[in-house]
Amino acid sequence: MPRPNPQTVAVRSALESDSQHGAVVPPIHLSTNYTFSAFNEKRTYDYSRSGNPTRDALASALAELEGGAGCVVTASGMSAILLVCQQLNPGDLLLAPHDCYGGSYRLFESLAARGRFRVQFIDQNDTEALDRALAERPKLVWVETPSNPLLRIVDLAAVAEAAHAAGALVAADNTFLSPALQTPLALGADIVVHSTTKYLNGHSDVIGGAVISADRAVHDSMADWANTLGLTGGAFDSYLTLRGVRTLFPRMRQHESNASQVAAALVAHPAVQAVYYPGLATHPGHALAARQQRGFGGMVSFEVAGDETALRCVLEGLSLFSLAESLGGVESLVCHPATMTHAAMDPDARRTAGISDRLVRLSLGAEAGDDLVADLLGALDRALAAASTPTHRQG
Ligand SMILES: *Cc1c(COP(=O)(O)O)cnc(C)c1O
Repeated sequence: MPRPNPQTVAVRSALESDSQHGAVVPPIHLSTNYTFSAFNEKRTYDYSRSGNPTRDALASALAELEGGAGCVVTASGMSAILLVCQQLNPGDLLLAPHDCYGGSYRLFESLAARGRFRVQFIDQNDTEALDRALAERPKLVWVETPSNPLLRIVDLAAVAEAAHAAGALVAADNTFLSPALQTPLALGADIVVHSTTKYLNGHSDVIGGAVISADRAVHDSMADWANTLGLTGGAFDSYLTLRGVRTLFPRMRQHESNASQVAAALVAHPAVQAVYYPGLATHPGHALAARQQRGFGGMVSFEVAGDETALRCVLEGLSLFSLAESLGGVESLVCHPATMTHAAMDPDARRTAGISDRLVRLSLGAEAGDDLVADLLGALDRALAAASTPTHRQG
C-alpha cells in the first residue's frame, strides 16, 4: 500500500489498536500505575507520568504528522516550551523573535533573569540583525511563524540554514498553522512545538502541548526531561486531543475558507483601516507564506478606523464571535490584543511590535462563512455610524 496522506493519518491514527475487545476507537487508560508481570519484570508501562498508552497514541499521531522521530505530549503549550528550554545550559544563548507569543517571551525572559541561559529578542525578518545575532553563536534559535497577532511570516528554511551554519538548533512554534498547513521539520527545523490547546485539539476544552523532534537522540532527551520534571500530559486530555486531531484537516480547510472570506470583506469596509492576513496579496509575507505553507490559516487581524467608540461597537456588537482569548477552536472568537493577550506587554513595546490600540484579532471558527461576514459587516456599519454621529454627553 502506498504511504497514506497526512489527512488519512490524522483520521486513522491508533484506530483498531485495542487487542482485548477489538474496539475501533482505543480506550482511555486512566490508571496511574501498571503491575509488574513478575519480580523484576516490568511491562511496557509502569507509571503514567513516565509513559501512558493513551498519551502515546496521541504522541505517535503528532510525530507522524510533523514528520519527526518522536513526540512528547505535555500538559500545556508552556510546558512544551519549558521542555525545549532544557536543551540550554547556563551561558548558552537563545535567539527568539521580538514578537513571539507573550507567554514564551515571559518564560524566556524570566529564566534568563535567573541565569538559566541568555536570551536575545530580534526581528528575524531583519537579515542584518539576524546575521549579527548568529555571529554570537546561539545554541537555539526560536521561530514562530505566522506571528501573533500581526501574522508576520518568517522564512523557516532560510533561518534554519543560517542557524545551522552558526551551530544552533532550530525550534519552531507551529501552533498557528498545525501540521495540516505547515511542517517546519521538512523546512529544516530540528524541533516543533505546539500548544495543542489551539487547532490540534480544536474544540476549546483541553490545555495541552507537544514537542516533536526530528532527531531520535534529541527526542530521547526531551522524553527524559519531561518525565524528570513531570511535564507530561494527562490521559483524558490526550484522548480528547487525539479525537480533535481526527478532524484537523477538514477543520483547517473551513477555518481558512472563513478567514479568506472575512479578510476580503474587511478590506472593502470603510470602518477598517488595515487588514493583516497572509492570504491577501497585499500582505508583505504573502509570497513566502504561499511557498512555505499549505494554506494561509484561520487567523485574521485588522485595525478599526475611528475612536474607541467605534472599537467598542465592533468588540461588543458581534453575536457570532465570542470576546475571548485563545484561538483555533470550532467557535469564532474576537480578541483585543492591547487589553487581552498582549496586556502584560508595556505600551512602548506594544507600539514597537506594531500592535495598536485599535487592533482586533479574529480566530475564525467552523461556522458558515456567510454568517460570520454578515455579523462582522453589521458591527462595522454600526461602528461607522457611531464614528460619524457626534456624541452628546449627558450632564
Ligand atoms: C497558546 C500559545 C502558547 C501557549 O500554550 P498554552 O497551551 O496556553 O500553554 C504557545 N505558543 C503559541 C503560539 C500559542 O498561541
